[in-house]
Amino acid sequence: MRITNQKQLVELLAEVSVELVEEYLGKRTPSHYTGVRFATEAFLRTYNLKGSNFEETPDRVSNMWKTFFTPIKYTLTTFPLKKKGGMILIKNHECWSFCPHHLLPVKYLVKVGYVPEKLVLGLSKLARIADIMMQKMPLQEDLAEMIASRIIESIEPKGVGVVVTGEHMCMKMRGVESSHVNAVSTFMWGVFLDDVKARDEFLSL
Ligand SMILES: [Zn+2]
Repeated sequence: MRITNQKQLVELLAEVSVELVEEYLGKRTPSHYTGVRFATEAFLRTYNLKGSNFEETPDRVSNMWKTFFTPIKYTLTTFPLKKKGGMILIKNHECWSFCPHHLLPVKYLVKVGYVPEKLVLGLSKLARIADIMMQKMPLQEDLAEMIASRIIESIEPKGVGVVVTGEHMCMKMRGVESSHVNAVSTFMWGVFLDDVKARDEFLSL
């Protein structure tokens, strides 16, 4: 609908406000249009950001978040363990998320390993589990445990270890403003917790 007079505009705004109020009260699931798009428009207005460069920005921002939150389709494939002994791990898996406190980007390098008991996971699934957690915008302090818990509940291994290194834009461009600082967090479970040799091997690989 093309708005040509003030009356039409008032009517449209009244309609949109009802939607926004209902969304705010939890009576309606927010849509990308009324949610992110309007928030971006309000943000641009607040800081007086206007001109041709910003014309499509609300749409672009809305689409960007839509892509980020598009559910990742995957099946957690498991196979029976054929040969006992040894650990399976992936490392340097790079994934991106946003910190929940500032909504600024965080680049994570993830290392995940486990010692199987009866089942093994498809190798790519370890990376997939980390990718899925990114959409929850986790606090880094919780991320390693979140990844480990998903593995524990799916294959009940003998042990799981996760090391997460996070490069937080909220630390680099604001706050402590330290351009080389990274945050490291770990979570060890089962044999990685009880057996120092197993844990050292995992950490050294
Ligand atoms: Zn932050």
